[in-house]
Amino acid sequence: MSDPIWFDPTLCLIGKDWQPAMDRQTLTLTNPSDGSDICQIARGSAVDVDRAVAAARTALGSEWGALTAAERGRILLRLSVLVRDRVEDLARLEAMDVGKPLTQARADALALARYCEFYGGAADKMHGETIPYLDGYTVYTLREPHGVTGHIVPWNYPMQIIGRSIGAALAMGNATVLKPAEEACLTALAFAHLAQEAGLPAGALNVVPGLGAEAGASLAAHGDVDHISFTGSVATGALVQQAAGGNVVPVTLELGGKSPQLVFDDADLDAALPFLVNAGIQNAGQTCSAASRILVQRGVYAAVRDRMAAAYGELTVGPALSDPRVGPLISGRQKEIVSRYLNLGSDLNVVAQGTVLPDAPETGHYVRPTLFADVPAGHQLAREEIFGPVQVIIPFDTEEEALTIANSTDYGLVAGIWAREGARQMRLAKRLRSGQVFINNYGAGGGVELPFGGFGKSGHGREKGFEALYGFSQLKTVAAYHG
Ligand code: NAD
Repeated sequence: MSDPIWFDPTLCLIGKDWQPAMDRQTLTLTNPSDGSDICQIARGSAVDVDRAVAAARTALGSEWGALTAAERGRILLRLSVLVRDRVEDLARLEAMDVGKPLTQARADALALARYCEFYGGAADKMHGETIPYLDGYTVYTLREPHGVTGHIVPWNYPMQIIGRSIGAALAMGNATVLKPAEEACLTALAFAHLAQEAGLPAGALNVVPGLGAEAGASLAAHGDVDHISFTGSVATGALVQQAAGGNVVPVTLELGGKSPQLVFDDADLDAALPFLVNAGIQNAGQTCSAASRILVQRGVYAAVRDRMAAAYGELTVGPALSDPRVGPLISGRQKEIVSRYLNLGSDLNVVAQGTVLPDAPETGHYVRPTLFADVPAGHQLAREEIFGPVQVIIPFDTEEEALTIANSTDYGLVAGIWAREGARQMRLAKRLRSGQVFINNYGAGGGVELPFGGFGKSGHGREKGFEALYGFSQLKTVAAYHG
């Protein structure tokens, strides 16, 4: 296999130039599958963020800012084609960097292409309205970009999150500064190279890799940033909101989750089963919308438990490039966190575990996917985000009880309902405290078009779909008096 890194990973993109961090500091990226060093990346600091924000500001007043919406859309469409052409390369980068099994990494790369396509097509379809008003007036609204937008992205789905947030921001004419996660940022850098190749004007996209407490914190608090899109943990999200609040800047927070799937006695179990398991173990459970709680009505409880247990028995865990069902966790630290939760569950009923393949290097960050049954709804494992391949099954008797349990955590990102009765589906969809509700499916094929975001501590603001374009723009009302 040829070296999958086809660019210099040690550089930041500032304006049109790739350059090292001002103080030439670097960080080491490691491969979660075997703990080996992959390469050095730039350790950007406040001064690099400053330069990136200045480059973005300049872009708004030059070539980028002068483009029409249709021209911006065309660039995104070109970028979508370039991403699609490089799906295999991008998937290999992600597999190496995040430990994501190749099949899942490929799906992420295709989603990135699809985001560019969706937002490329949408760029010239956003418009204001005319508003009937007093006699002698014509009133209309304009949708304008915020200006400079900051994008702070986690390591678990870099390509998807970059696609949905940078894609929408560029479609609306913002100039962006991207701070990828320090654990995994190769596809962010690759994406920026492809964006240049697609003809994105200088400064429309700037990339400053670095530590959260340095580059991330500087971007969140920067006085010349007009909007912050943050995806990550609740604790960091609160810090970012506080920092941006100091500048009275709007913030979109896409945070964690403890998402439930509710399985009723009349559910089509054959249809449900793959979704119940996949949504828990995809990306080794390091997914904000992971369905980590499976709530099952008593009549089908034993059947669901046993069928999920059988599926867990088949799960194999191994190095990402060998494309197992489950890859490693991102880091030794994440493995410690997940192991701590597994210990907390030592008094619970473990009904099945997956298998770590014998050829998985000991230096990789592997844990066995673990399925717990009969878990009390108030148990820590049933309330806290674990961010690992761990699911709990919780029994319930009535619809009301299921709803109470489903709504009982601090989070509210995604929920799934498996039931045939239409009235029940509608009642629950209304009463579940969740940004997305899926009926007889979960995840709906990625859902680039579907607005996404949280209730409660899962965050606020919406990304994905058309809704993101409202978030990445602001509305101006023009009232003209002409008599
Ligand atoms: P994290 O909060 O540690 O890091 C996320 C990003 O924030 C990284 O780029 C990091 O460098 C940066 N950061 C860290 N400290 C910062 C600071 N003080 N100021 C500014 N930026 C800072 O989160 P993580 O561990 O990388 O990601 C896991 C979390 O992300 C989970 O809770 C998961 O549920 C959540 N997540 C949510 C979504 C969603 O769309 N809702 C998607 C993916 C992940």
